[in-house]
Amino acid sequence: MKTTDVLIVGAGPTGLTLAASLLVKGVDVMLVDRQTEGANTSRAAAVNARTLEVLEPIDVTRRLVKEGIEAPRFVIRDGAKVLLALDFSALQTAYPYTLLAPQSTTERLLLERIHELGGDVTRPKVLATLAQDDSGVTATFTDEDVVRARYVVGADGMHSTVREQAGIGFSGGSYEHSFLLADAHLTGDAPTDEVRLFWASEGLTVVAPLPDGTFRVVAPIDDAPEEPSVALVQKILDDRGPGGITVTEVAWGSRFRIHHRVADAYRAGRILLAGDAAHVHSPAGGQGMNLGIQDAAALADTLVAVLDGGPDSLLDDYSATRRPIAQQVVELTDRLTKLATLPRALRPVRNVFLGIVGHIPWATRALASRLSGLVYR
Ligand SMILES: Cc1cc2nc3c(=O)[nH]c(=O)nc-3n(C[C@H](O)[C@H](O)[C@H](O)COP(=O)(O)OP(=O)(O)OC[C@H]3O[C@@H](n4cnc5c(N)ncnc54)[C@H](O)[C@@H]3O)c2cc1C
Repeated sequence: MKTTDVLIVGAGPTGLTLAASLLVKGVDVMLVDRQTEGANTSRAAAVNARTLEVLEPIDVTRRLVKEGIEAPRFVIRDGAKVLLALDFSALQTAYPYTLLAPQSTTERLLLERIHELGGDVTRPKVLATLAQDDSGVTATFTDEDVVRARYVVGADGMHSTVREQAGIGFSGGSYEHSFLLADAHLTGDAPTDEVRLFWASEGLTVVAPLPDGTFRVVAPIDDAPEEPSVALVQKILDDRGPGGITVTEVAWGSRFRIHHRVADAYRAGRILLAGDAAHVHSPAGGQGMNLGIQDAAALADTLVAVLDGGPDSLLDDYSATRRPIAQQVVELTDRLTKLATLPRALRPVRNVFLGIVGHIPWATRALASRLSGLVYR
């Protein structure tokens, strides 16, 4: 039987960050994933300041910054009119901006770092069951392989087998809207160094630049298609955007339905949860992947301390610290989503309200601090 100190199930951004953060401290780690290859699609494109801070100790931040676009402003508009502008450049951090880079880039750089540290992902390897006792956890895989670990971390996403095997509930609900995502080539008045949200009466849309010259367009719509067409993205931008933008090509597109759920606990004995396995929420504010990476960094510190002989109660502290943060993020993104998808008749009133909030410096500072993740330091 193979043995390891920490078995990490799932090699998305959360599992990769955790593995690199443990390997850098010399911990014996096994990282497995059910997929034959890592995902290479765009998905979460906004990396916030706090994430860049927590990736520093594993020497991934400088590599990521080199490949991303720094966007120091986050602006909410109604057509050409600015309702609220968040300026990240005044934030007390070495990274006073949102870094725009596709999730595939973040994952590639994390994996490169794992290889440098002598680690790798064992794949395809699908976790089937977990059984724990006082000294460890026995993991059985669908290929009948058995691994004995001192601790197991579920970084295995929203439909987490680890969470299920640990008997941890995942409370919450779903939104009725689906979200369209497209990385599109645009010409015209598209932003090159800021994230722009258009809160039009016709609905919300987000436009943000990506390093490959495309622009990420996100919009809540009824029944988003699996592969959005140029005509559909054009219509969304015409109806909801500032006008004067032409879509020439959709390089990548997707859709997703969103849920808002938080695991009832992040710990059951020697089994721990992090990332989407522990929380899922609306993409409004771009917090999902960031929160998972930040969970992973916090959990790595905790596991290193416990493996070094620290008290077991540190694992409860991890759960007690990280879970309320997820609840706050779910609440914030829920509020933003509800505001963005208010019934049409209420949208002009909402925009007047936003315009007023946009002139209150402490309110915009507080929101910038929250979206940058720095408030959770
Ligand atoms: C189309 C799409 C667009 C998105 N866009 C955004 C966005 O714009 N902004 C944003 O913030 N977030 C976005 N997200 C969400 C973001 O991608 C997730 O929050 C992020 O990937 C979570 O990382 P994670 O590592 O916790 O989980 P995941 O990335 O889900 O990784 C989990 C891993 O676990 C593996 N796994 C699962 N079960 C098992 C098992 N039994 N055994 C072994 N391995 C297993 C899976 O193969 C997977 O690789 C998007 C997601 C999708 C799908």
